[in-house]
Amino acid sequence: MRNIYNISLGLIALISVEVFAAGGVVTDPAGVAPDRYVYYPGTEALDKKEIRITACGTGMPAARHNQAATCFLMEFGNGDKIIFDIGTGSATNLASYMIPYQYLDKIFLSHLHTDHMGDLDAIWAGGWTGGRPNGLNVWGPTGLHPELGTQAAMDGFLDFVAWDKETRSFAITPLPGEIIVHEFDYRIENQKIYDEEGVVVRTFPAIHTGDGPVSFIIEYEGMKVIFGGDTAPNKWFIKHGKQADLVIHEAFMVPNDFVELYNQPPQLAWRACCAFHTSGQAFGKIMSTIEPGHAVAYHFLNEEATRYHLYDAIRETYAGPLSMAIDNMVWNVTPTGVKERMAVITDDAWPVPGPTTQGPPQRKGRRPVFSDFTNAGYWLPAYKAQNKAMDRHMEKYNLQDQDWRPGMMKMMKGEGK
Ligand SMILES: [Zn+2]
Ligand SMILES: [Zn+2]
Repeated sequence: MRNIYNISLGLIALISVEVFAAGGVVTDPAGVAPDRYVYYPGTEALDKKEIRITACGTGMPAARHNQAATCFLMEFGNGDKIIFDIGTGSATNLASYMIPYQYLDKIFLSHLHTDHMGDLDAIWAGGWTGGRPNGLNVWGPTGLHPELGTQAAMDGFLDFVAWDKETRSFAITPLPGEIIVHEFDYRIENQKIYDEEGVVVRTFPAIHTGDGPVSFIIEYEGMKVIFGGDTAPNKWFIKHGKQADLVIHEAFMVPNDFVELYNQPPQLAWRACCAFHTSGQAFGKIMSTIEPGHAVAYHFLNEEATRYHLYDAIRETYAGPLSMAIDNMVWNVTPTGVKERMAVITDDAWPVPGPTTQGPPQRKGRRPVFSDFTNAGYWLPAYKAQNKAMDRHMEKYNLQDQDWRPGMMKMMKGEGK
C-alpha cells in the first residue's frame, strides 16, 4: 500500500512525509482521495504476482439476505479466475463484481451440499442470458458410491433443468448450456487436478457428513492458498495446510448460539458445531499449528449476536492474523503479505460483455419446442399493437432479415379472434 505522499506537488525533490492513515492524505480541496480503504470491483488490475480473493458467500444453509452460502472467487495475476464453491445466494454477489460471464466458467466444488453448489443454476442460466458464449467447467469429487459423485450430480442437474436447457438452446444458443465435468478421486492426497498457465490446484480429503468432501491447495507464483470446504479437524489439513500465505477454513458458531438463535436442539447444536464441523477452539488449534500468513474463518452467521462468541473461542487457541469473513470481503495476496478490504458493490449490476460473442440460435436438426396446440393460442391484437415499435427497433438497429412477423402470422393458425 502506498503511504508516502508529497506534501507539495510539481517538483521532484520536495520533502516527503510518511503518513500512517491507510487511505492516505488529501492535500488539496479539489484533490482526489488516494485510497478509500475499499475495493471497487473492476477498477484494479492485478500484479503478475498477485491473487485477489473475494468472498462471494460466507454463510449457512438457512438463507440470509446479508450472507450467501459458501463461495470464494479467486482471481490470479495471469487473468485466470476460479470460483470455489457456489453456494445458495452467491450468484448475486458474483454478478455484482460485473466480471464478464465468459471468465466465470470454472467452478470447483469442495462437496455436494447445496450450501456449496446451490447457485449453480443461477450462474448457469444467468451467465447464459448474460452473454457467456461457452459452457461451464465443474470440478468436484467422487463419492463413496457412484451416484454420490460430482458426475452424477451434474447429470442430475442437467435432468433437473432439461426444459430450461432445451428451450433456451432453441431461443438463444446451445453451447452455454453445456457442463463439462472434471471428477476426481476424493481419497487421493495432494492430487493435482488443475494446472494451467502457472495456476495449480491440488486436493486432499476432508471429513464431513460422509465420504467425498475435499479441501483445495491453490498455488501460483510461489504463493500458496488453502480453501477448506466443510470439514471436521483432520490430519490431512495439518499435513498439507502448512506454509500457506492464506488459509480459508470453516469455523462454526458456538453451540449456545445454535441453540438460542438457530433454534436447534442442544444435541444437534453440538454435533453441527463441533463434530462434523469445526468449532472456534478447534479452528484456532489448527491455525496455531499450521501458522498461515493469514487465517480466514467463515461459515457462520456473522453479526453482533454471534461474532464475539466465536472470536473469543478462536482466540483461546490462536493469536495470529485473522479475518472473520463476511460477504464481499476481499484479500489481495502477494509475496509480501495479505491485504484485507471490503468490496463496494452495486445492488443494480448489469452483465458486462466480454470479447467473445455468443453463437446464433441453432434450430436446424432440433426437435420443435412448440406444438400446434400452443401456437394456436397467441392473441394477435396484442402482437399487432407492437408493430410500430418493432419497425422502430428494426430501423434503429438496421435489422434486415429479422422481421419474423410473416412466419408468426402463418403460425398463429387460430388467429386469436
Ligand atoms: Zn457441508
Ligand atoms: Zn456448508
